[in-house]
Amino acid sequence: MARADEIIGRTVRDGKTRYLMEHESKSILEELDIATTGGTLAYSEAEAVKIFEALGGPAVMKVVSPGVVHKSDAGGVKLNISNSREAKAAYSDIIAAFGEANVEAVSVQPMAKPGIEAIVGITRDPTFGPLLMFGLGGVFVEVLKDVSFRSIPVSPADVSSMIEEIKGYGLLKGARGYAADLPALRQLLLQVSGLVLAHPEISEIDLNPVFLYPEGYVVVDARMFVDGVAGGAPARHGNGSLRKFFYPESIAVLGASNSEGKLGWNVFHNLVSHNFEGKLYPINLQANEVQGVKAYGAIGDVPGPVDVAIVLVPAAATPKAVEECCARGIGSIVVESAGFAELGADGRKAEEEMERTARRYGCRLLGPNCSGIINTHSNMVQSIGAVAELGKGNVGLIAQAGVYAAGMLWGLRHIMDFGIVATIGNKLDVNETDVLEVLGEDRNISVICMYIEDVKGGRRFVDVARRVTRTKPVIAVKSGRTDAGKKAVSSHTASLAGNDEVYDSVFRQCGIVRARDNEQMFAVARGFSKQPLPDSAGVLIISYAGSLGVMATDAVNLNGMRLAELEPHLKTRLRSILPGMTSGLNPVDYTFSMSADDVRKTIEIGVESADVGAFIVILQTEILDRYVAPLSGIDYKGKPVLACVACKEFVTEDVIAMEKAGIPVYATPETAAEVLSAMYRHNLTVKSPQ
Ligand code: ADP
Ligand code: MG
Repeated sequence: MARADEIIGRTVRDGKTRYLMEHESKSILEELDIATTGGTLAYSEAEAVKIFEALGGPAVMKVVSPGVVHKSDAGGVKLNISNSREAKAAYSDIIAAFGEANVEAVSVQPMAKPGIEAIVGITRDPTFGPLLMFGLGGVFVEVLKDVSFRSIPVSPADVSSMIEEIKGYGLLKGARGYAADLPALRQLLLQVSGLVLAHPEISEIDLNPVFLYPEGYVVVDARMFVDGVAGGAPARHGNGSLRKFFYPESIAVLGASNSEGKLGWNVFHNLVSHNFEGKLYPINLQANEVQGVKAYGAIGDVPGPVDVAIVLVPAAATPKAVEECCARGIGSIVVESAGFAELGADGRKAEEEMERTARRYGCRLLGPNCSGIINTHSNMVQSIGAVAELGKGNVGLIAQAGVYAAGMLWGLRHIMDFGIVATIGNKLDVNETDVLEVLGEDRNISVICMYIEDVKGGRRFVDVARRVTRTKPVIAVKSGRTDAGKKAVSSHTASLAGNDEVYDSVFRQCGIVRARDNEQMFAVARGFSKQPLPDSAGVLIISYAGSLGVMATDAVNLNGMRLAELEPHLKTRLRSILPGMTSGLNPVDYTFSMSADDVRKTIEIGVESADVGAFIVILQTEILDRYVAPLSGIDYKGKPVLACVACKEFVTEDVIAMEKAGIPVYATPETAAEVLSAMYRHNLTVKSPQ
């Protein structure tokens, strides 16, 4: 790409402007065989008329000036020039509008025939680096913000899905005389992505508009911005595995205490009372024993190897404690102490010191300001708050704050079991991407929940998440959805890349299920955690109330699933057990007299059907207890079943019994359908070729 090198190199060297004008940008595109309306530069009126006449058709004239970014705003674009007189007038109008001194030249180019107006762009996101954007132009982008993003590099599948996910996709596919050449468009998007990979100095691109035709497309306007710095993921400390953090054979606790109520008491008590399987070394200046375990005055005095050190000393003493642990050769350090960057400049300085130390020794550091890790599979509870008995589950949770995780854990332990809960605090070193990678490889974990405020791993997050979601579902709640503090931007694309839109697109790109809130996240997690994945989109709904059956039908269809169609012999079998007054065969409506036996018989018919991928059973709240044993005794032949119980929050005990029997219970058919749909889509991902 010699021309691109030359133009970009010149602009970066000049340093006067970071802006590549339309003709410069187009010449970079043309080098890649991207179709544009081109443009010949005229330096006088006579030249402009000559170029126009040589074009032999309607033309467009545009101002060429390094000081003008939005040409048409100030009268710098003249359209539909159809004779020499108009050409002359257009030229002099442009000169008059901007003043001779400000105009480098006037670009004369053919007037493109109308097509579907689209916008293709690049912006650089502070978190994920370069992003590719696609959307429909004009009113679609201005009013509806109908655009999609993907983190670069993009795959052909990414490009297809970003085209398909915009609301205007129907138009592109072909509707009311409109249509776009989708293969050509996909190719264009891949080329723009490739251009930025080859030239990371390009920070922003607007191809706005691109006219899309039933055959081909043409880039009508282009601008680019460059700078000398290429964005990228931040450097990491070391490449050592983080698995030790989760499965240590020995833990030292700096600040372990005998005074009940102190955090150092809580953490050590959690380790002892949950029967941590490895060796424990409390470090305490005064005591010979902490909670019955032999104590040491300094980390340097500990005899055997130490896999993990938990640091719980006051903030001011923490950097020194970290240094001592590093010097002792401990590779994994959990800093639970608080009072750092979250409190201001001094705290940030202390963090920087710890970071330098860790880097120097090649140690990994979790926290500070976190509540450590819980791994029920190694009986390890490092939490700052006292934690009650836990089951050994298959759900992983990654959270920033300990209090949040503790609250979830305390309440949810009745209806779901976590395997690993990792709190990452201020993410000085180990961040959500790192933990996601470890949980992705952990055989004890089969579904991962994440609470995210911001992502630190940059593009690495996309790559890791994408790899993990090919085998395990990842469900995330992302907060901080507003755009406070966004810096001023020059390109249209950048102005559209709001934080929330970017996260939405990136989650989609990596196959992460984005949940509205905690409630939905754990609803989905329970489905994945307790039930097999549906193989077919067909759902058999069994209900005691017609209205709930109808609602479930709507919800199933709205979530991309459908009602299953039983085979004729199964229909006959089902009819023979249905009471006379019921109408349809799906939803199967047994009315208020429905019994556990009815549900069992229906499910036994449903499991025989090739079209039934899953069951939603809508049960009477007031007799929920009668269903627990019969429903958990059925052979579902690998098909998932979800229960829906209106007002379930008032029959807590029965709900807990049902959940403990392995059947998730949801309050509304909508939630049940959302969960099933996430499970079905995940199954498609798992089965799809790489
Ligand atoms: P701006 O710098 O204001 O974005 P553009 O080059 O995009 O300037 O021109 C403004 C509008 O004029 C475009 O959105 C498009 O509708 C129309 N236009 C510009 N160039 C052409 C062209 N060569 N053929 C057809 N329409 C054009
Ligand atoms: Mg434009």
